[in-house]
Amino acid sequence: MGDVPPPFDALWFQLLIGFVVGITLGSFITMLSYRLPRKLSIVLPPSSCPQCRAPLKVRDLVPVFSWLITGGKCSQCGAKIGRRYLLIELITGIMSAIAFGVIGFRWELAVVLIFIVTLVTFLTICFEKKQK
Ligand SMILES: [Zn+2]
Repeated sequence: MGDVPPPFDALWFQLLIGFVVGITLGSFITMLSYRLPRKLSIVLPPSSCPQCRAPLKVRDLVPVFSWLITGGKCSQCGAKIGRRYLLIELITGIMSAIAFGVIGFRWELAVVLIFIVTLVTFLTICFEKKQK
């Protein structure tokens, strides 16, 4: 990796970027795992609260931090937002950080990230089916 300029060659930087990318993917996964089994479009409409249908604002869509700031509640109606959203985002963040750290900024990373998203989405949907 000698041809990668700093700070891209630093492990801390790879882990940080990996984590930020990962929690964003995790947020995407929570949306996929909700909509795919219900045969809803994954493009439209924009995400809304399942309780009050209020569309989520930008400040509600920041992975991990939105949940922590609101204490896991809808900012409109106060309905509880499952801890699993936070968990999925964190787990994906950690997996992605490890992938960035091990692989570095190379194209193989994209393949691994797609694999992680597919795996976590699949496991989440299976887990939710079992809950019913
Ligand atoms: Zn709500």
